[in-house]
Amino acid sequence: MYIGRFAPSPTGPLHFGSLVAAVASFCEAKANRGHWLVRMEDLDKPREIKGAADTILHQLEAFGFEWQGKVIYQSLRNDAYAEVLQLLKDKNLIYPCTCTRKEIADSSHQSGIDGLIYPQTCLHQPLKRNAPAAWRIKTDDVDICFNDAIQGSIKQNLSQQVGDFILKRADGLFAYQLAVVADDAAQGVTHIVRGADLLDSTPRQIYLQRHLDYTTPEYAHIPIATNASGEKLSKQTLAKSIESSSTNQLLYAALSFLGQQPPLALKSASLSEIWLWCDSHWQLSNIPKVRKIAASTQVTSS
Ligand code: GLU
Ligand code: ZN
Repeated sequence: MYIGRFAPSPTGPLHFGSLVAAVASFCEAKANRGHWLVRMEDLDKPREIKGAADTILHQLEAFGFEWQGKVIYQSLRNDAYAEVLQLLKDKNLIYPCTCTRKEIADSSHQSGIDGLIYPQTCLHQPLKRNAPAAWRIKTDDVDICFNDAIQGSIKQNLSQQVGDFILKRADGLFAYQLAVVADDAAQGVTHIVRGADLLDSTPRQIYLQRHLDYTTPEYAHIPIATNASGEKLSKQTLAKSIESSSTNQLLYAALSFLGQQPPLALKSASLSEIWLWCDSHWQLSNIPKVRKIAASTQVTSS
C-alpha cells in the first residue's frame, strides 16, 4: 500500500512552491493507487500566521485535491513526540544542552550545511544551572546514503556536515526533524514527495528512523522554484502568483514546472479536465532535478 502525504507549514497561504509539492505528491499517490494524507505542520506557533491552516485547506479544496482521513495537526501531538524523545533517551542517544546561540557562535569553529557545527560542549562539560535545556542527538561519523527518485544518490556525513542536532528546543518546542519522523511513521507514510529544500534534512530523518526502528520511506525531492540566476524565490513572490491567477491556470503552471509538458490546449481547460489529463499522463520520471523560472512567468499568468 502506497501512502503519501502533503505537510504544509501554516506560515502563510499556499504559494506556488507549496502548490507544486501538493500536486506532485498527490499525482504520484494517485498514480500508485495510494492514499494521500494532509498534515498541518503547525509546531512552530510563534511563526504561524493566524488562520493560515484553514486558508491552506480551503485552497486545496478549491483546486480539487482530495485527501484521506482527517488532517493531523502537529500542535496536538506533543505527547507522541515526548514518547519518541524518551525512546531515544532510553537508548542514551540524546543529551541536554544549555548553550546559548552566542556561546555556540563563540565556541564553534566549523560551519556545516545548516549553520555552525555544535562542538558538543554539553556532552563533555557540566550543564549550566537554572538554564533552560534543549535536547540534542549525538551523530556518527559515518555516511548516510539514500537514493532519491528524482535527485539520485545522496550521501551525507552527519557529524561532519550537520553536527549533533536539536530534537527539542530550550523553549520546549519539538523540532521539525523529530516531529516529521514521528508523524510519518505513525501515519504509515511509505513515500515522501516534497521540495528539494528538505533534501539536506533527509539524512537526519533517516538517522532518526534507524535508531527508532522505523521503516525508511522512499523519497522524491522535487526541484524548488528559483529565478534565472538560481536563487530561491521568496515566499512573497511565490504567494503572489496564487492570488493573481485562476486555479486551473496555476495547476497548469505547476504541471509545466514539474516537467509534465501538458498540451497547450489544456491551458484554458477546466480544473477537472486537467486532473483527468494527469490521471493518464503523470510521470514522476519527467520531473527535472532543478528548475529555473523567470519570476514573471509565474507571477502574472492571468
Ligand atoms: N512542513 C514542511 C514545509 O512546509 C514540509 C515538511 C515535509 O514535507 O517533510 O516546508
Ligand atoms: Zn550545549
